Amino acid sequence: MKLQTYDELLHSKHRLSLMLFLFLNTATSLFSLSSISGKIAACSFLLPTIIIAFTSAVIVIWMVLRPSGKFPILNTVALLTGLLWTWQIVLKFESVFYFDGSFLVISLISIFFISAIALGDHLLAFCLHTAPPSVAVLVLDHGENTLLILFTVALPLIGFTLNHLMQRRQDRFTRRLMHQLYEEKETYSDLSMLDPLTGLYNRRGLKNRLETVLENHAGSHYVLLLDIDNFKAYNDNYGHAMGDQALARVSVAIRDAVRSRDIVTRYGGEEFLVLLTNVNESIAMKLSERIRQYVLNLEIPHRFNDLVATNVTISAGFAPLFEDDFDAAVANADRALYLAKNRGRNNILSYDQIAKTSLTQPADAM
Ligand code: GH3
Ligand code: MG
Ligand code: MG
Repeated sequence: MKLQTYDELLHSKHRLSLMLFLFLNTATSLFSLSSISGKIAACSFLLPTIIIAFTSAVIVIWMVLRPSGKFPILNTVALLTGLLWTWQIVLKFESVFYFDGSFLVISLISIFFISAIALGDHLLAFCLHTAPPSVAVLVLDHGENTLLILFTVALPLIGFTLNHLMQRRQDRFTRRLMHQLYEEKETYSDLSMLDPLTGLYNRRGLKNRLETVLENHAGSHYVLLLDIDNFKAYNDNYGHAMGDQALARVSVAIRDAVRSRDIVTRYGGEEFLVLLTNVNESIAMKLSERIRQYVLNLEIPHRFNDLVATNVTISAGFAPLFEDDFDAAVANADRALYLAKNRGRNNILSYDQIAKTSLTQPADAM
């Protein structure tokens, strides 16, 4: 079984403790049955031992057959077996004709022995299993070995209580650590989906969001590719640091121009991809035009030389997303972008329009 969470680990530990506890009870009861049945002809006190052996074995087999089943019965089983062992001690004590005085203490020690091995991490089950026989032994003893019995009960009880307190402290610490780890994992996962310069999604983030969009939005979507015009010249003129600043400002303009449900991605160096969700061609065109205008409105100076001075602009191409074929839509949007650049930049083209034009024009006119 592959453990995913700390709770699953605790559950598995609980299950193993229960199985070990039942196994020890089966073994002990079978041993006491085999060692007694030969000596005494009519053993009236065997019934509880037989019940313990039988039920413990049945539950263990049941648990083995259902490896993924949940068995929150440790406390109940501990109490019931504790009561059965008590019954067995009382019945056996009534047939004292062949037992010596140490019978009661030895019986108690063997019950504590089982609990110590299997229930060390389960204080409540430990107490439920050992309390009934402890009380019975104290009563049956009539004060002959009170000190010895109290010592036999108190020593493991104090030990296990201290152990339990330490265990709880460790448990709290581990839970806190796990919680912290999960939170950090989520933070890193979020960060790994964002582009550090612009704060937009990177390709990984886009892939992640795309899956959600395709699963939840059945409408028509458009892929919009945007590319800053002549950006190499901008870097050459103003330096890389200024180039970075311009990139960050353009990113904000793009994000502001579209709706919150559109997914804006830094797709490459100075290239952006926007997934326009639930739009038709005319809305896609309106949103693209708005981006172009917002970027122009930034009025980032872009001086090529003394003769040519302009602002930073972008060109764009968009295409519909058909049958969830994202790669085909990107390729079509890229073709539209390429033509938009060829038409002089600061320009937007729709792939649908290109497709219509190419259908109505003779091949040599293209
Ligand atoms: P076009 O109009 O045809 O797109 O021309 P362009 O110069 O924008 O295109 P080109 O592909 O020749 O150059 C892209 C430039 O973008 C080159 C590169 O230095 C710049 N660039 C890419 N990523 C970054 C970045 O993170 N920071 C900066 N400052 N510049 C970048
Ligand atoms: Mg460019
Ligand atoms: Mg480019």
